[in-house]
Amino acid sequence: MAPPPVQTSGETTPHRDGEQYANVNWDELGFDAVPTDYMYVMKCSIEEGDFSHGKLIPYGNIELSPSAGVLNYGQGLFEGLKAYRREDGRIQLFRPEQNALRMKMGAERMCMLSPTVEQFVDAVKQTVIANNRFVPPPGKGALYLRPLLMGSGPLLGLAPAPEYTFLIFASPVGNYHKGRPALKLFVEDKLQRAMPGGTGGVKSITNYSPVYLAQTKAKAKGYSDVLFLDSAHGKYVEELAVCNIFIVKGNVVSTPAIQGTILPGVTRKSIIEIALGFGYQVEERLIPVEDLLEADEVFCTGTAVIVNSVGGVTYQDKRVEYKTGKETLSKKLYETLIGIQTGRVEDKMGWTLEVN
Ligand SMILES: *Cc1c(COP(=O)(O)O)cnc(C)c1O
Repeated sequence: MAPPPVQTSGETTPHRDGEQYANVNWDELGFDAVPTDYMYVMKCSIEEGDFSHGKLIPYGNIELSPSAGVLNYGQGLFEGLKAYRREDGRIQLFRPEQNALRMKMGAERMCMLSPTVEQFVDAVKQTVIANNRFVPPPGKGALYLRPLLMGSGPLLGLAPAPEYTFLIFASPVGNYHKGRPALKLFVEDKLQRAMPGGTGGVKSITNYSPVYLAQTKAKAKGYSDVLFLDSAHGKYVEELAVCNIFIVKGNVVSTPAIQGTILPGVTRKSIIEIALGFGYQVEERLIPVEDLLEADEVFCTGTAVIVNSVGGVTYQDKRVEYKTGKETLSKKLYETLIGIQTGRVEDKMGWTLEVN
């Protein structure tokens, strides 16, 4: 391991001469954490008020006080985005400022200090460049970046932590779709993931483990994932554990409106724009379960899956199936979006950002 470069501006980037790629079996990549060379760390105390002195350090375990806010009271946020290596060798990110803005919004809801959009994007770029040899070859996947913001300062009484740590680690991930069938969803009508006024609309770490029970039960029955309903009425479709959902009926594409209980996905937002460009009518609205059951096609979106078609859903004793395969809108949306993300399709939207 090379000595940790201590720097914040990205002028001197760590790299290993002559080693274009790390020793990774690129054809076997899934979505498991693979350790890489470096991670980025930047801190901020309540007294300082602003983040500064961010640096790349060798990837490894971190030290935390047992009374850190994140460990005791779950004061933490996460983000997820990908860097792709293009055919011409350049590496690009997809709308990283959107993740930065979402982290800022989440930090306000969770009473945390957060890095600026510029700091966030610069840190992501530095993390990608430092781990360049882990960015898969074109067509083999992406380098997944996981920014974290946590209340790292110690406390015992219930209050926002006195210090915050922003950390980014990375892991190469494979192409999610390789050999995967369309999803089979179970519509969960008892366990909830988010409530009005809660934190469902921000990427708080506290939103995820409450989902495990419903997911575990559904998977044991052969489903791929759970679809949650709104907790106030139990009748409107919200989202999966980590994906937004869309339904297609004729020329109309609908997705649940963002009203605080649904995570505003960057993929969701991008898919809405691409579908509008294809000439579809797009509606962000309340979607009763009945509309889901009557749809022609259903798909879900998220950074990890990009666009994944849903083959069928089960709601109480009803099972319905949807159109899947080559002729679907979800396939067309997937091809367009991954094309832009990987640089194979021209980016007319200005969504991509080169890092090197
Ligand atoms: C991250 C996430 C999504 C998808 O957001 P993207 O920005 O598209 O990756 C959707 N729902 C939940 C609950 C999420 O955590």
